[in-house]
Amino acid sequence: MRAILISTGDELTSGRTVDTNSSWLAGKLLNRGIRTLSHHTVGDNADEIAAIIRNAVRRAEIVLVTGGLGPTPDDLTRHALADVLGTELVCCEESLARLQEFFQRRGHKMVQANKIQVMIPEGTSAIINEVGTAPGILSSLDESLVICMPGVPVEMHAMFESAVTAVLPASQLAVAVRVLRVYGLGESNLSERIDDILSDRCSNVIVGTTVAGGLISLTITATDDNDASAAALADQTAAKLTTRLGSLIIGTDSDTPASIVAELLVSRKQTLCLAESCTGGLVGEMITSLSGASEYFLGSAVCYANTAKRDILGVPQDLLDDYGAVSEQVALEMARGSRRRYGGDWAISLTGIAGPEGGTEDKPVGLVFIGLVGPDTEHVFSHVFASQREQMRQRAALAALNHLRLALLGAE
Ligand code: ATP
Ligand code: MG
Repeated sequence: MRAILISTGDELTSGRTVDTNSSWLAGKLLNRGIRTLSHHTVGDNADEIAAIIRNAVRRAEIVLVTGGLGPTPDDLTRHALADVLGTELVCCEESLARLQEFFQRRGHKMVQANKIQVMIPEGTSAIINEVGTAPGILSSLDESLVICMPGVPVEMHAMFESAVTAVLPASQLAVAVRVLRVYGLGESNLSERIDDILSDRCSNVIVGTTVAGGLISLTITATDDNDASAAALADQTAAKLTTRLGSLIIGTDSDTPASIVAELLVSRKQTLCLAESCTGGLVGEMITSLSGASEYFLGSAVCYANTAKRDILGVPQDLLDDYGAVSEQVALEMARGSRRRYGGDWAISLTGIAGPEGGTEDKPVGLVFIGLVGPDTEHVFSHVFASQREQMRQRAALAALNHLRLALLGAE
């Protein structure tokens, strides 16, 4: 079972509005075992809309169109559909009665322009809109269903759930989706490591990658005859990827280094404190944005100036003078100082050059030292993040949390 999604409206083609209907619908269809072949976005032009619908019915059993069912002259979906079907627009009396009642209840007079909303191509049926004024249209052409829904997302969602799901053909396929979250290598490096799995686009299991916020998500979509076998296929692939990538996989679904660190600290009944320079509190922000942080998080000393590193964290002045604030030695002393001050089991420190100014040949912009001190470990890691200031700070914060994650797992 295959679907094609068509979103209409000049506001979409011009980029003023982002098309959220297609992604919402594709997700809903996938849950029902229906794969989406393609998404199309088309402006308020009846000929263009008609051409895309004509093409779509040749390729997919289900064609879902959103938008262009309103009362204004730029709402042209019904005209386009009538053109494709080769029929005239006729008034749907039942919809007209509902529309009149809709206006009456609100004490408004129905204007003539609203009448166009209850015009549907002859031979099709109207789909009740519980939320707004524009009914949807249900039609079939050759072997395909063509269903038009309003563009307004809340109206479309309500119509899809209450009426469209009931008419969608039952898919023979069950679908299972698993998401693995990867941290610690770039997308191209990752794809090299699991190239064979990613390039298999024909079997029942497809693996896709997306990158956001410094993390890669591997989405495994498995389809099979029934729920249990689809789940088993997805789990098999997840296990294969986990073996291949080891501790680069931080978790599943929406896990982040911060959420995993939180889980590990809670399960070990251990606490964390921080000393942040270049990240200015970002690691603390990542941790405290999760509820329950008070269970394991003690505090963060944001020590930007050398004097603060010295007076608050107890970094010896001669280390600052000899090695500079951005150095392995100072990073270690910052972490030790934070641990002393707060009395945590674990302390992380970050000191680096966020740029764009301040870099030297020895210490380029993007250089960060991360100190990690635990019950019986002391480490300093160095990284060079080649990116913009904000990205560098984000990357440094994630890297720090990831070092702690690995240390808690005993891998460092
Ligand atoms: P209306 O009766 O409101 O005119 P309609 O069916 O004609 O309904 P459109 O005119 O296409 O729908 O869209 C109405 C509004 O809904 C748009 O201004 C836009 O803000 C939003 N919208 C339409 N399509 C989408 C989409 N694909 N994704 C997100 N928002 C959308
Ligand atoms: Mg409209």
